[in-house]
Amino acid sequence: MPALEVPHRLEGAPIASEIRATVAADVAAFRAMYGYSPGLAIVIVGKDAPSAVYLRQILRSCERVGIEGRLVEIAGQASPGRLHRQIVELNEDPLVSGIIVQMPLPPGIPLATVLDSLDPAKDVDGIHPQNAGLMALGYEGFLPTTAQAAVEILKRSGIPIAGRRAVVVGRSNVVGKPAAILLLRENATVTVCHSQTRNLAREVKSGEIVVVATGRPGLITGAMLRRGAVVVDVGINVVDGRIVGDVEFRSASQVASAITPVPGGVGPVTSALLLTHVMRAARALASLERGVPDTQRRPIRAEPSPGNLSSDAPAVGTSR
Ligand code: NAP
Repeated sequence: MPALEVPHRLEGAPIASEIRATVAADVAAFRAMYGYSPGLAIVIVGKDAPSAVYLRQILRSCERVGIEGRLVEIAGQASPGRLHRQIVELNEDPLVSGIIVQMPLPPGIPLATVLDSLDPAKDVDGIHPQNAGLMALGYEGFLPTTAQAAVEILKRSGIPIAGRRAVVVGRSNVVGKPAAILLLRENATVTVCHSQTRNLAREVKSGEIVVVATGRPGLITGAMLRRGAVVVDVGINVVDGRIVGDVEFRSASQVASAITPVPGGVGPVTSALLLTHVMRAARALASLERGVPDTQRRPIRAEPSPGNLSSDAPAVGTSR
């Protein structure tokens, strides 16, 4: 089969910067109106090098738009009780508009600890069952940012979704399942594949849009794709020191009409969308008069600075 001329690379950077520009303007207006900036608290439990890279990106994005990013590291022996108390404290902190807890959690800390503690109004990563339910029913809520980013890239790139066959490979609660729901909300006809899918290649071949989120590097090859398919690769894997996706880029780009690169595709859009959620949470909380009392109206500082965030960064408490 002759290769398509040049597949369109669905770059995340321009989309992310467009989103950030809107958020920056919104943050400035919010600050002018309320006298403080929206704040994002990132809770870290345990140490994980790939997370540190991701967190550094989020903090940098916050800084670029004027959102106050705050790292809250649970130092020493983490326990479900300590994590619960920490999250409750952040729920009650009027300077914190949004909270994310870095995943994966260390062994011995069940996800239920986070889900049972987190205020859905501050769940800017859309992991709380209340937000998942709202999403499934088509109501406003916080969407899981990665899944939202996968669909947002298609929409902002002018790729039609309605009526098209979409195949999502992966069914995790954070990416695959919400991506399928969001594609359905955009009126695609959606197939969801997973590790028990009997003939993955045949299913993928039916997809005019293929979203892949498995954590299996190179699982989807060009031979599995329909000619002209649009491919969104959510995967982030480190192979021989390089970051690669779940799609074999070289063979896939011979067949696809458009494809997201890894890195540089879904990732930047994910962190930009998170900022929009923080902004929205801040507005909602402020309008509920859960805003910051005059006596506390002061900027909070991101600590440690993005430059010194590493897996062995010093423990940082909350700013309370
Ligand atoms: P996950 O929780 O491990 O889920 C992986 C999914 O892939 C599962 O549903 C699994 O099926 C399915 N799967 C595994 N092997 C398969 C196979 N051989 N054939 C078909 N399906 C298979 O992973 P996740 O959290 O969804 O993350 C997926 C990828 O996205 C990872 O590479 C992760 O690093 C990346 N990610 C990227 C971003 C971003 O911002 N770009 C954010 C989050 C995650 P079963 O359900 O049957 O086990």
